[in-house]
Amino acid sequence: MSDHDFVSGGKPIGIERGEGPYLYTAEDTAYIDAGASFACTPLGHSHPAVVDAVQDQVGDLMFVDSSYPVQSREDAYASFVASTPDGLDQAWFCNSGTEANEAALKFARSATGESKIVAATRSFHGRTMGALAATWKDKYKKPYEPLAGDVAFVPYGDSEELAAAVDDETAAVILEPIQGEGGINVPPAGYLETARELTDDAGAALVFDEVQTGMGRTGSMWACQNAGVTPDILTTAKGLGNGLPVGAIAVGDWIADGAASHNATFSGGPVVTAAVHATVSTLVEEEWPAHAAEMGEYLTTELEAAIGDEVREIRGEGLLIGIELKRGANRAARDLAMNEQVLALPAGRTVLRLLPPLVIGEDDADQLVDALTAVVASDS
Ligand SMILES: *Cc1c(COP(=O)(O)O)cnc(C)c1O
Repeated sequence: MSDHDFVSGGKPIGIERGEGPYLYTAEDTAYIDAGASFACTPLGHSHPAVVDAVQDQVGDLMFVDSSYPVQSREDAYASFVASTPDGLDQAWFCNSGTEANEAALKFARSATGESKIVAATRSFHGRTMGALAATWKDKYKKPYEPLAGDVAFVPYGDSEELAAAVDDETAAVILEPIQGEGGINVPPAGYLETARELTDDAGAALVFDEVQTGMGRTGSMWACQNAGVTPDILTTAKGLGNGLPVGAIAVGDWIADGAASHNATFSGGPVVTAAVHATVSTLVEEEWPAHAAEMGEYLTTELEAAIGDEVREIRGEGLLIGIELKRGANRAARDLAMNEQVLALPAGRTVLRLLPPLVIGEDDADQLVDALTAVVASDS
Protein backbone atom coordinates (compact mmCIF):
# COMPACT_ATOMS: atom_id res chain seq x y z
CA MET A 1 0.00 0.00 0.00
CA SER A 2 1.08 3.55 -0.62
CA ASP A 3 1.62 6.14 2.10
CA HIS A 4 -1.37 8.22 3.11
CA ASP A 5 -1.62 11.85 4.07
CA PHE A 6 -1.08 12.56 7.73
CA VAL A 7 -4.74 12.76 8.78
CA SER A 8 -6.43 9.86 6.93
CA GLY A 9 -6.28 6.36 8.32
CA GLY A 10 -5.21 3.93 5.59
CA LYS A 11 -7.24 0.77 5.00
CA PRO A 12 -5.66 -2.45 3.70
CA ILE A 13 -8.03 -2.80 0.74
CA GLY A 14 -7.04 -0.99 -2.45
CA ILE A 15 -10.05 -0.01 -4.55
CA GLU A 16 -9.65 0.19 -8.29
CA ARG A 17 -13.13 0.60 -9.72
CA GLY A 18 -16.78 0.74 -8.79
CA GLU A 19 -20.05 -0.24 -10.37
CA GLY A 20 -23.51 0.02 -8.82
CA PRO A 21 -23.26 -0.81 -5.12
CA TYR A 22 -19.95 -2.69 -5.59
CA LEU A 23 -16.31 -1.70 -5.26
CA TYR A 24 -13.58 -3.85 -6.79
CA THR A 25 -9.90 -4.34 -5.95
CA ALA A 26 -7.17 -4.65 -8.59
CA GLU A 27 -7.61 -8.46 -8.27
CA ASP A 28 -11.33 -7.95 -9.01
CA THR A 29 -12.56 -8.95 -5.56
CA ALA A 30 -15.99 -7.38 -5.10
CA TYR A 31 -16.91 -5.55 -1.90
CA ILE A 32 -20.44 -4.36 -1.31
CA ASP A 33 -20.33 -0.68 -0.43
CA ALA A 34 -22.53 -0.11 2.59
CA GLY A 35 -20.62 2.91 3.81
CA ALA A 36 -17.25 3.24 2.08
CA SER A 37 -18.51 6.13 0.00
CA PHE A 38 -20.16 7.96 2.93
CA ALA A 39 -23.56 8.40 1.21
CA CYS A 40 -21.83 10.15 -1.71
CA THR A 41 -23.00 7.76 -4.45
CA PRO A 42 -26.79 7.42 -4.19
CA LEU A 43 -27.05 6.14 -7.78
CA GLY A 44 -24.20 3.69 -7.27
CA HIS A 45 -20.61 3.97 -8.41
CA SER A 46 -19.80 5.56 -11.75
CA HIS A 47 -23.45 5.66 -12.79
CA PRO A 48 -23.55 6.00 -16.61
CA ALA A 49 -25.92 9.02 -16.63
CA VAL A 50 -23.54 10.96 -14.39
CA VAL A 51 -20.39 9.73 -16.13
CA ASP A 52 -21.75 10.76 -19.55
CA ALA A 53 -22.87 14.19 -18.34
CA VAL A 54 -19.52 14.86 -16.68
CA GLN A 55 -17.46 13.58 -19.61
CA ASP A 56 -19.40 15.76 -22.06
CA GLN A 57 -19.02 18.80 -19.83
CA VAL A 58 -15.30 18.27 -19.28
CA GLY A 59 -14.83 18.25 -23.05
CA ASP A 60 -16.90 21.40 -23.58
CA LEU A 61 -16.00 23.65 -20.67
CA MET A 62 -14.37 22.88 -17.33
CA PHE A 63 -14.68 26.29 -15.74
CA VAL A 64 -16.00 29.78 -16.06
CA ASP A 65 -16.82 32.18 -13.25
CA SER A 66 -20.33 31.73 -11.85
CA SER A 67 -21.54 35.18 -12.94
CA TYR A 68 -21.70 33.91 -16.55
CA PRO A 69 -24.78 31.82 -17.30
CA VAL A 70 -23.84 28.26 -18.25
CA GLN A 71 -26.39 25.62 -19.28
CA SER A 72 -25.23 22.95 -16.81
CA ARG A 73 -25.59 25.36 -13.87
CA GLU A 74 -29.01 26.54 -15.02
CA ASP A 75 -30.14 22.92 -15.39
CA ALA A 76 -28.75 21.93 -11.99
CA TYR A 77 -30.32 24.95 -10.34
CA ALA A 78 -33.71 24.12 -11.83
CA SER A 79 -33.65 20.41 -10.98
CA PHE A 80 -32.23 20.96 -7.49
CA VAL A 81 -34.73 23.68 -6.54
CA ALA A 82 -37.61 21.62 -7.98
CA SER A 83 -36.53 18.72 -5.74
CA THR A 84 -36.58 20.75 -2.50
CA PRO A 85 -39.73 21.39 -0.42
CA ASP A 86 -42.06 24.19 -1.60
CA GLY A 87 -40.99 27.52 -0.20
CA LEU A 88 -37.27 26.90 -0.68
CA ASP A 89 -37.04 28.52 -4.07
CA GLN A 90 -33.54 29.98 -4.16
CA ALA A 91 -30.27 28.12 -4.07
CA TRP A 92 -26.51 28.56 -3.99
CA PHE A 93 -23.95 25.90 -4.90
CA CYS A 94 -20.71 25.36 -3.01
CA ASN A 95 -18.08 22.67 -2.72
CA SER A 96 -18.87 20.63 0.39
CA GLY A 97 -21.18 20.05 3.33
CA THR A 98 -19.26 22.16 5.78
CA GLU A 99 -19.26 25.05 3.31
CA ALA A 100 -23.02 24.76 2.87
CA ASN A 101 -23.41 24.99 6.64
CA GLU A 102 -21.03 27.98 6.86
CA ALA A 103 -23.27 29.73 4.33
CA ALA A 104 -26.38 28.74 6.30
CA LEU A 105 -25.01 30.25 9.52
CA LYS A 106 -23.88 33.40 7.74
CA PHE A 107 -27.21 33.87 5.93
CA ALA A 108 -29.16 33.25 9.16
CA ARG A 109 -27.10 35.91 10.90
CA SER A 110 -27.52 38.51 8.18
CA ALA A 111 -31.25 37.82 7.67
CA THR A 112 -32.08 38.00 11.39
CA GLY A 113 -29.50 40.51 12.58
CA GLU A 114 -28.82 38.12 15.47
CA SER A 115 -25.86 35.86 16.17
CA LYS A 116 -26.86 33.16 18.66
CA ILE A 117 -26.92 29.62 17.24
CA VAL A 118 -28.68 26.68 18.86
CA ALA A 119 -27.33 23.24 17.94
CA ALA A 120 -27.84 19.73 19.30
CA THR A 121 -25.76 17.30 21.27
CA ARG A 122 -24.19 14.61 19.03
CA SER A 123 -24.54 16.86 15.99
CA PHE A 124 -22.09 16.86 13.11
CA HIS A 125 -22.06 19.82 10.75
CA GLY A 126 -18.52 19.83 9.35
CA ARG A 127 -15.00 20.87 10.18
CA THR A 128 -14.46 24.45 9.10
CA MET A 129 -14.40 26.93 11.98
CA GLY A 130 -18.09 27.97 11.94
CA ALA A 131 -19.65 24.58 11.22
CA LEU A 132 -17.23 23.02 13.70
CA ALA A 133 -18.47 25.38 16.41
CA ALA A 134 -21.96 23.89 15.90
CA THR A 135 -20.58 20.32 15.96
CA TRP A 136 -20.83 18.41 19.23
CA LYS A 137 -17.76 16.19 19.59
CA ASP A 138 -14.96 17.65 21.69
CA LYS A 139 -12.41 15.47 19.94
CA TYR A 140 -12.98 17.46 16.74
CA LYS A 141 -13.20 20.85 18.47
CA LYS A 142 -10.99 21.13 21.53
CA PRO A 143 -7.59 21.30 19.82
CA TYR A 144 -8.82 24.12 17.58
CA GLU A 145 -10.53 26.36 20.09
CA PRO A 146 -11.56 29.14 20.35
CA LEU A 147 -14.09 28.58 17.56
CA ALA A 148 -16.33 31.05 15.80
CA GLY A 149 -19.63 32.18 17.22
CA ASP A 150 -22.00 31.86 20.07
CA VAL A 151 -23.39 28.30 20.05
CA ALA A 152 -25.63 26.77 22.71
CA PHE A 153 -26.11 22.98 22.68
CA VAL A 154 -29.36 21.30 23.66
CA PRO A 155 -30.05 17.55 23.98
CA TYR A 156 -31.13 16.23 20.56
CA GLY A 157 -34.79 15.23 20.53
CA ASP A 158 -35.80 17.13 23.67
CA SER A 159 -38.51 19.69 22.77
CA GLU A 160 -38.61 21.31 26.21
CA GLU A 161 -34.88 21.98 26.32
CA LEU A 162 -35.10 23.38 22.80
CA ALA A 163 -37.93 25.71 23.84
CA ALA A 164 -35.85 26.95 26.77
CA ALA A 165 -32.87 27.72 24.51
CA VAL A 166 -34.56 29.59 21.65
CA ASP A 167 -35.30 33.29 22.16
CA ASP A 168 -35.41 36.63 20.35
CA GLU A 169 -31.62 36.71 20.11
CA THR A 170 -31.45 33.40 18.29
CA ALA A 171 -30.26 33.64 14.68
CA ALA A 172 -30.65 29.94 13.88
CA VAL A 173 -31.49 26.51 15.15
CA ILE A 174 -29.45 23.96 13.20
CA LEU A 175 -30.47 20.29 13.27
CA GLU A 176 -29.98 17.11 11.28
CA PRO A 177 -33.50 15.65 10.69
CA ILE A 178 -31.88 12.32 11.60
CA GLN A 179 -28.39 12.45 13.08
CA GLY A 180 -25.83 10.57 10.99
CA GLU A 181 -22.31 10.66 12.42
CA GLY A 182 -23.78 10.98 15.94
CA GLY A 183 -25.20 7.44 15.77
CA ILE A 184 -28.25 7.41 13.44
CA ASN A 185 -30.51 9.12 15.97
CA VAL A 186 -34.13 9.51 14.91
CA PRO A 187 -35.86 12.27 16.87
CA PRO A 188 -39.22 11.60 18.59
CA ALA A 189 -42.36 12.41 16.58
CA GLY A 190 -43.20 16.10 16.83
CA TYR A 191 -39.66 17.30 17.53
CA LEU A 192 -39.00 18.88 14.14
CA GLU A 193 -42.48 20.49 14.19
CA THR A 194 -41.68 21.99 17.58
CA ALA A 195 -38.40 23.35 16.21
CA ARG A 196 -40.42 24.92 13.36
CA GLU A 197 -42.89 26.58 15.75
CA LEU A 198 -40.21 27.84 18.12
CA THR A 199 -38.11 29.40 15.36
CA ASP A 200 -41.20 30.95 13.76
CA ASP A 201 -42.17 32.53 17.07
CA ALA A 202 -38.65 33.81 17.76
CA GLY A 203 -38.04 35.09 14.22
CA ALA A 204 -35.06 32.74 13.94
CA ALA A 205 -34.03 30.64 10.95
CA LEU A 206 -34.59 26.90 11.08
CA VAL A 207 -31.68 25.16 9.35
CA PHE A 208 -31.89 21.49 8.43
CA ASP A 209 -28.55 19.93 7.64
CA GLU A 210 -29.43 17.25 5.07
CA VAL A 211 -25.86 16.63 4.00
CA GLN A 212 -26.24 12.96 4.95
CA THR A 213 -30.02 12.46 5.09
CA GLY A 214 -30.78 14.07 1.73
CA MET A 215 -30.86 12.82 -1.85
CA GLY A 216 -33.57 10.22 -1.33
CA ARG A 217 -31.82 8.09 1.27
CA THR A 218 -34.62 8.18 3.86
CA GLY A 219 -37.38 7.34 1.38
CA SER A 220 -38.22 10.93 0.47
CA MET A 221 -35.92 13.19 -1.49
CA TRP A 222 -35.32 15.13 1.75
CA ALA A 223 -35.77 13.65 5.24
CA CYS A 224 -37.70 16.73 6.41
CA GLN A 225 -40.43 15.76 3.91
CA ASN A 226 -41.06 12.57 5.93
CA ALA A 227 -41.85 14.79 8.91
CA GLY A 228 -43.75 17.34 6.81
CA VAL A 229 -41.62 20.20 8.13
CA THR A 230 -40.01 22.79 5.85
CA PRO A 231 -36.98 24.66 7.18
CA ASP A 232 -35.92 28.18 6.18
CA ILE A 233 -32.56 26.84 5.05
CA LEU A 234 -31.75 23.34 3.81
CA THR A 235 -28.12 22.36 3.32
CA THR A 236 -26.81 19.36 1.43
CA ALA A 237 -23.70 17.89 -0.17
CA LYS A 238 -22.40 14.28 -0.01
CA GLY A 239 -24.63 12.52 -2.61
CA LEU A 240 -25.53 15.66 -4.56
CA GLY A 241 -23.02 15.05 -7.36
CA ASN A 242 -22.96 11.24 -7.01
CA GLY A 243 -19.29 11.42 -6.07
CA LEU A 244 -18.08 14.81 -7.24
CA PRO A 245 -17.39 17.49 -4.60
CA VAL A 246 -20.42 19.75 -4.55
CA GLY A 247 -22.78 21.14 -1.92
CA ALA A 248 -25.83 23.35 -2.02
CA ILE A 249 -28.06 25.45 0.14
CA ALA A 250 -31.72 26.09 -0.62
CA VAL A 251 -33.42 28.99 1.14
CA GLY A 252 -36.77 30.73 1.51
CA ASP A 253 -37.28 34.25 0.21
CA TRP A 254 -36.78 36.05 3.53
CA ILE A 255 -33.36 34.46 3.91
CA ALA A 256 -32.38 35.22 0.29
CA ASP A 257 -33.59 38.83 0.65
CA GLY A 258 -31.64 39.28 3.86
CA ALA A 259 -28.45 37.59 2.67
CA ALA A 260 -25.37 39.79 2.58
CA SER A 261 -22.47 39.28 0.16
CA HIS A 262 -21.22 35.69 0.01
CA ASN A 263 -19.66 33.60 -2.75
CA ALA A 264 -16.88 31.19 -3.63
CA THR A 265 -14.70 30.93 -6.73
CA PHE A 266 -15.78 27.42 -7.64
CA SER A 267 -19.47 27.96 -6.80
CA GLY A 268 -21.63 26.10 -9.31
CA GLY A 269 -18.76 25.12 -11.61
CA PRO A 270 -19.84 23.61 -14.95
CA VAL A 271 -18.53 20.06 -14.30
CA VAL A 272 -19.94 19.58 -10.81
CA THR A 273 -23.29 21.07 -11.79
CA ALA A 274 -23.45 18.68 -14.76
CA ALA A 275 -23.11 15.92 -12.16
CA VAL A 276 -25.77 17.52 -9.94
CA HIS A 277 -28.28 17.79 -12.74
CA ALA A 278 -27.71 14.21 -13.90
CA THR A 279 -27.89 12.88 -10.32
CA VAL A 280 -30.95 14.81 -9.16
CA SER A 281 -32.95 14.28 -12.34
CA THR A 282 -32.14 10.55 -12.45
CA LEU A 283 -33.06 10.12 -8.77
CA VAL A 284 -36.36 11.93 -9.25
CA GLU A 285 -37.39 10.54 -12.66
CA GLU A 286 -36.51 6.93 -11.80
CA GLU A 287 -38.10 7.25 -8.34
CA TRP A 288 -35.09 6.00 -6.38
CA PRO A 289 -36.29 7.54 -3.08
CA ALA A 290 -39.32 5.19 -3.15
CA HIS A 291 -36.96 2.29 -3.88
CA ALA A 292 -34.84 3.36 -0.89
CA ALA A 293 -37.94 3.28 1.30
CA GLU A 294 -38.80 -0.22 0.09
CA MET A 295 -35.27 -1.61 0.38
CA GLY A 296 -34.83 0.06 3.77
CA GLU A 297 -37.98 -1.64 5.00
CA TYR A 298 -36.85 -4.99 3.59
CA LEU A 299 -33.32 -4.73 4.97
CA THR A 300 -34.45 -3.59 8.41
CA THR A 301 -37.07 -6.34 8.68
CA GLU A 302 -34.59 -9.03 7.58
CA LEU A 303 -31.92 -7.71 9.95
CA GLU A 304 -34.39 -7.60 12.80
CA ALA A 305 -35.32 -11.26 12.14
CA ALA A 306 -31.70 -12.39 11.78
CA ILE A 307 -29.86 -10.45 14.50
CA GLY A 308 -32.53 -8.49 16.39
CA ASP A 309 -31.91 -10.48 19.57
CA GLU A 310 -28.13 -10.17 19.34
CA VAL A 311 -27.96 -6.39 19.08
CA ARG A 312 -29.28 -3.53 21.21
CA GLU A 313 -31.25 -1.77 18.49
CA ILE A 314 -31.74 -1.42 14.75
CA ARG A 315 -32.97 2.05 13.79
CA GLY A 316 -33.15 4.61 11.03
CA GLU A 317 -35.24 5.49 8.02
CA GLY A 318 -34.97 4.08 4.51
CA LEU A 319 -31.35 3.26 3.69
CA LEU A 320 -29.93 5.25 6.59
CA ILE A 321 -29.63 2.43 9.10
CA GLY A 322 -27.85 2.23 12.45
CA ILE A 323 -27.22 -1.00 14.30
CA GLU A 324 -26.44 -0.48 17.98
CA LEU A 325 -24.14 -3.36 18.87
CA LYS A 326 -23.37 -4.78 22.26
CA ARG A 327 -19.68 -4.19 21.54
CA GLY A 328 -17.28 -2.06 19.51
CA ALA A 329 -18.42 -0.96 16.06
CA ASN A 330 -14.87 -0.48 14.79
CA ARG A 331 -14.10 -4.15 15.23
CA ALA A 332 -17.37 -5.19 13.61
CA ALA A 333 -16.65 -2.92 10.63
CA ARG A 334 -13.17 -4.43 10.30
CA ASP A 335 -14.52 -8.00 10.49
CA LEU A 336 -17.19 -7.21 7.90
CA ALA A 337 -14.53 -5.91 5.53
CA MET A 338 -11.88 -8.58 6.08
CA ASN A 339 -14.14 -11.65 6.35
CA GLU A 340 -17.34 -10.76 4.51
CA GLN A 341 -16.40 -8.26 1.77
CA VAL A 342 -18.82 -5.72 3.21
CA LEU A 343 -17.67 -2.13 3.74
CA ALA A 344 -19.63 -0.43 6.53
CA LEU A 345 -18.98 2.56 8.76
CA PRO A 346 -18.98 3.09 12.52
CA ALA A 347 -21.01 6.03 13.89
CA GLY A 348 -19.70 6.43 17.40
CA ARG A 349 -18.31 3.66 19.59
CA THR A 350 -21.04 1.02 19.31
CA VAL A 351 -23.16 1.95 16.29
CA LEU A 352 -22.56 0.40 12.89
CA ARG A 353 -23.89 2.58 10.08
CA LEU A 354 -25.22 1.24 6.77
CA LEU A 355 -25.43 3.79 3.96
CA PRO A 356 -25.54 1.74 0.76
CA PRO A 357 -26.23 3.31 -2.63
CA LEU A 358 -30.00 3.55 -3.14
CA VAL A 359 -29.80 1.16 -6.11
CA ILE A 360 -29.20 -1.99 -4.04
CA GLY A 361 -31.54 -4.89 -4.76
CA GLU A 362 -32.86 -7.70 -2.57
CA ASP A 363 -29.87 -9.94 -3.40
CA ASP A 364 -27.51 -7.25 -2.14
CA ALA A 365 -29.63 -6.75 0.98
CA ASP A 366 -29.60 -10.53 1.61
CA GLN A 367 -25.83 -10.51 1.29
CA LEU A 368 -25.63 -7.70 3.86
CA VAL A 369 -27.89 -9.60 6.25
CA ASP A 370 -25.81 -12.81 5.92
CA ALA A 371 -22.59 -10.88 6.48
CA LEU A 372 -23.93 -9.08 9.54
CA THR A 373 -25.32 -12.31 10.94
CA ALA A 374 -21.91 -13.96 10.64
CA VAL A 375 -20.07 -11.05 12.23
CA VAL A 376 -22.55 -10.51 15.06
CA ALA A 377 -22.55 -14.28 15.81
CA SER A 378 -18.73 -14.43 15.93
CA ASP A 379 -18.79 -11.44 18.26
CA SER A 380 -20.96 -12.88 21.00
C1 LIG B 1 -20.52 14.86 6.24
C2 LIG B 1 -21.41 15.84 6.89
C3 LIG B 1 -21.10 17.22 6.90
C4 LIG B 1 -19.81 17.77 6.36
O1 LIG B 1 -19.70 17.60 4.98
P1 LIG B 1 -18.27 17.74 4.28
O2 LIG B 1 -18.57 17.66 2.82
O3 LIG B 1 -17.41 16.63 4.79
O4 LIG B 1 -17.73 19.07 4.68
C5 LIG B 1 -22.02 18.08 7.46
N1 LIG B 1 -23.17 17.64 7.99
C6 LIG B 1 -23.51 16.33 7.99
C7 LIG B 1 -24.82 15.92 8.56
C8 LIG B 1 -22.63 15.39 7.45
O5 LIG B 1 -22.95 14.09 7.47
